[in-house]
Amino acid sequence: MSEQNRYAVIGHPIAHSLSPFIHALFAAQTGEAITYEAIDGGGEAGGFERVLAGFWAAGGCGANVTLPFKLRALQCADEASAEARAAGAANALRRVDGRVEAHNFDGAGLVRDLAAHGCALAGARVLLLGAGGAARGALLPLALAGAERIVVANRTAQRAQQLVQELAAHLPASVQLAACALGDVPGAFDVVVNATSASLDGAAPAVPAAAFAPQALAYDMVYGKGLTPFLALAQAAGARCADGLGMLVEQAAASFAWWRGVQPDAAAARAQVQQHLAQQGVAVL
Ligand code: NAP
Repeated sequence: MSEQNRYAVIGHPIAHSLSPFIHALFAAQTGEAITYEAIDGGGEAGGFERVLAGFWAAGGCGANVTLPFKLRALQCADEASAEARAAGAANALRRVDGRVEAHNFDGAGLVRDLAAHGCALAGARVLLLGAGGAARGALLPLALAGAERIVVANRTAQRAQQLVQELAAHLPASVQLAACALGDVPGAFDVVVNATSASLDGAAPAVPAAAFAPQALAYDMVYGKGLTPFLALAQAAGARCADGLGMLVEQAAASFAWWRGVQPDAAAARAQVQQHLAQQGVAVL
């Protein structure tokens, strides 16, 4: 195996990561002879940077980066895409002629998966719940995909306002942008994206049922939790429901294409990942 074929995901903890499984599917689909391993970036200060430097030194040519290292991954890069700069974080790196390039495909993965669920973003009213890293990464791609109105609502309203203020200059001027607290959501939306981590705690962001327009799509970025309290609330309000598994697979597909110049079949891989999880007793939608 040539050094030009070595890839990895770096995070902490990392044993649970589905990325090696997903990239093995892509490699089999496309005939690209790559290796893709999961590397623990360690918990201690400076651990991630040392691990990443060691990976490049050992011939690594591309890496995905996951929690909690996405911000530090951007700082390790020589250049960064507009998406990574707007997100303030990177989830994909590649080494070209000794220089490290950073990208963030989380938002693109979300937009592609929304499309796969039949959700047209052009002219759509979008409610984005949360103001952490996932919401930050989603804002620019949602706007570039043509959303007409985006409201960012967060438990801590001040964080939503800060996010909107910071990113407003990066977004097309035509997008109507606003921020508020969860309980103050104004009106109804065609797409409601839960980018909070509430589902991991078995909780739902306290969003009013009136926020879901008729035929709305409710999207929980969390996956492997079945019908989360947020999705149950959305379903009771008449919305269609989707979880974040497709987003994970789509961002992986975008990373693979960025590294290899070959576009894998994300829909086919998603079905295989879903089957794999179901066999392991993980709750899938
Ligand atoms: P983060 O930076 O820690 O932000 C967490 C956000 O959740 C904050 O806005 C926080 O509000 C809010 N929150 C937490 N508990 C809440 C509750 N009980 N009620 C209401 N709001 C609550 O996390 P992140 O990196 O943005 O990730 C968010 C979620 O997206 C995670 O669950 C992650 O698994 C998921 N994600 C999925 C993918 C994918 O590929 N599917 C990719 C990235 C992330 P406050 O500001 O008020 O604390």
